[in-house]
Parts: sequence; C-alpha cells; structure tokens
Amino acid sequence: MIYYKTEEEIELIRESSLLVGKTLAEIAKLIKPGVETLFLDKIAEDFIRSHGAVPGFKGYNGFKHSLCISVNDEVVHGIPGKRILEDGDIVSIDCGTLKNGFYGDSAYTFAVGNVSEEKLKLMEATKESLYRGINAAIEGKRVGDIGFEIQTYVESLGYSVVRDLVGHGLGRKLHEKPEIPNYGKKGSGMKLQQGLVIAIEPMINIGVRNVIQERDGWTIRTADRMASAHYEHNVVVRKGKAEILSSFEEIEKVLLTINK
Ligand code: MG
Ligand code: MG
Repeated sequence: MIYYKTEEEIELIRESSLLVGKTLAEIAKLIKPGVETLFLDKIAEDFIRSHGAVPGFKGYNGFKHSLCISVNDEVVHGIPGKRILEDGDIVSIDCGTLKNGFYGDSAYTFAVGNVSEEKLKLMEATKESLYRGINAAIEGKRVGDIGFEIQTYVESLGYSVVRDLVGHGLGRKLHEKPEIPNYGKKGSGMKLQQGLVIAIEPMINIGVRNVIQERDGWTIRTADRMASAHYEHNVVVRKGKAEILSSFEEIEKVLLTINK
C-alpha cells in the first residue's frame, strides 16, 4: 500500500524533518576528538523531547537509542556507546523524530578533527549524489531514475553503492513503501506521483559495495573495512521539481563557524 500525503500531512512531516536537522545541528556543535558517542545520543534525546517530539528510532524493532552513530567503516545502524570519536574519523549520524503522528528521518556524515582527503572526497561525493537523486524525484519519473542518478555519479568516481539497505517511503510509519534503492535502471520501477514522501539516503563506500552485520545485531559495516558515508533527506515528489522537507542548513551553519 502506497500512502500519498495531503498538503496538511506534508506540513507535519516537514515539522518532524526540520526538527531532525536542528537536532543534528546540536550534535554538530559537539563532534570532536574525545567525545563519547553515548553522550551525543543523550543530548539528541533531550533536545528532541524538549521540542515536543519523541525520538523516532527509540524502541524501533528494539533499538534502544535516539541516534544511529556509524564510524568510518560502519555504514549505518551503529549503536551509541562507550566508543570515543578520534581525530581523523568520519561519523555518520542518522536521527529520527516523531511528532503529531508523523516521522522525520535524516542523516549527515561529519568529519572529526583532521580527516584525510580520501574520506573528505567520499563525503562530498555522497552528499552530491543525494542531491542528484533528489532531482530525479519528480512526477512522471520512476523510482529507478533516482537510483540511476546516484549510482552513475558515484561509480564514475570509483565508489560503490551499498545494495543491502535502501531509502523508503515516510509518514505515519518510519519505513513505508516503496523502497528507494540507491542504484537502478533509468525508466524502471514504480512511477512517481505528486504527494509521495520518501527518504532518499545513499550509503556510498570507498571500496567494495558488500556489507556485513556485526554481532551486536545492528551495526552494518563494509566487508573490506574501508570507509562509508551516508546522507539522507526527506523529499516530496512534485511536478517539475522535488521539494526537500528536511534541511542541512542549520548543520552547515554550525560547521562553518567551527571551521573558521
Ligand atoms: Mg535515517
Ligand atoms: Mg531512512
């Protein structure tokens, strides 16, 4: 079942999505060598609750935290804990919120201290691929067109696309239909219609595309232990141009002041 959203529902999803961006901006202020990932999770939970929402991931299939924190070769679903971020790490932080019955779900990859050129380039390419995918999320195109744009761009740079995890519809549930793979063939898959709200979230690896799940039952990491990056926006399919409901603006404002 595909749920197309009314404009009222889209506004509620926007509210939740923007709160995710604000939460990630709070986290951005704290990311530096020496910080414990569980501390970041606590800050995020308090921030989300103080804004009248609840953490969208907490309790989801038994997940106990508000953030997924995935470092270096970890792709997604990393569990906050005693791990200390180190200079040179890259850390993908995925956050969900639930407010007024609707979810927001957005992710950003951050540099910790001084990061290698190789990792910075991966981050930049992954973010660019997200926007290329978003540009294809317009009425009349198909789901495969989104993945095609992401895949052709990152593979042209020598990176690989994780296949085992995909983007998704978003609304009253964190994960709705359809699945939005980050790879695909032009003109394939379901036709996109106005009012479809989706999370587009490329997970891009420097090395092989294969991933494995750690014994903790959650953390997904690259099979070759090379770095991976992940960015995610919530998008509504429109005629002519997709509309992004989430925002990286607050995050990037913080990053600019930190890097001054
Ligand atoms: Mg997410
Ligand atoms: Mg998602």
